[in-house]
Amino acid sequence: MARIALVTGGMGGLGEAICIKLAALGYQVVTTYSPSNTSANDWLVSMERQGYNFRAYPCDVADYDSAQECVARIRQEIGAIDVLINNAGITRDMSFKKMQKADWDAVMRTDLDSVFNMTKPVCDDMVERGWGRIINISSVNGQKGAFGQTNYSAAKAGMHGFTKALALEVARKAVTVNTVSPGYIGTKMVMAIPREVLDSKIIPQIPMARLGQPEEVAGLIAYLASDEAAFVTGANIAINGGQHIY
Ligand code: NDP
Repeated sequence: MARIALVTGGMGGLGEAICIKLAALGYQVVTTYSPSNTSANDWLVSMERQGYNFRAYPCDVADYDSAQECVARIRQEIGAIDVLINNAGITRDMSFKKMQKADWDAVMRTDLDSVFNMTKPVCDDMVERGWGRIINISSVNGQKGAFGQTNYSAAKAGMHGFTKALALEVARKAVTVNTVSPGYIGTKMVMAIPREVLDSKIIPQIPMARLGQPEEVAGLIAYLASDEAAFVTGANIAINGGQHIY
């Protein structure tokens, strides 16, 4: 039977590439979308036209009860989740001087609390079955910090603390927990940055002098989800065009 992979935020730039890659490898792919997302059905239809039969469930990953309800429905209607990719995330960039408590809370809840909210209802099943993969999508800016991202850098760095601690707890049950830290990938989150900032500040920081492609990150996720990656756990894998070389 096909393994079931749940990708949070699977309708976003990176999430879509991950869904497509995993479907091509034979996983049954399930995604979440925000309850406020009115174009979820259009996305499903357009994917279906391209030959992908994804299932999608509304879920506010920042809300504990919404996450529990969503996973319970998936479990009942499709089955227990084998691979969880905590990918949903937001930014609320501004200098610390301008940042308000609401900007901090929104990012911490969506980018960090979500990891607890979504992992909580799937982890016990994985441990019980003796196989599982949890992959947390962090960011290069959680590793090195970034101007205007105290909230985002803190949430993304916190995610890897979670990865390492949970990896220790479930290692003997063949459940792996890893972090992937992409650099700048050409999705709408990054394309929302003004072009002159991309050209003058961001691309010059990347030794490969280009943005990454969502498909490149999806390939790494596919490896971590596979049986071949059974000995990789508690790792934070950078995929950033060489940004750590400097
Ligand atoms: P997008 O903005 O394209 O996608 C983000 C996804 O998150 C959307 O599908 C959105 O769903 C979902 N989402 C946001 N808030 C919630 C919520 N409260 N509940 C449920 N879903 C939610 O971003 P990317 O694809 O670029 O980013 C994906 C992940 O990769 C993020 O965690 C991001 O931080 C990380 N990342 C991205 C990088 C990049 O260069 N693009 C670099 C490093 C890390 P909906 O549209 O339905 O609201």
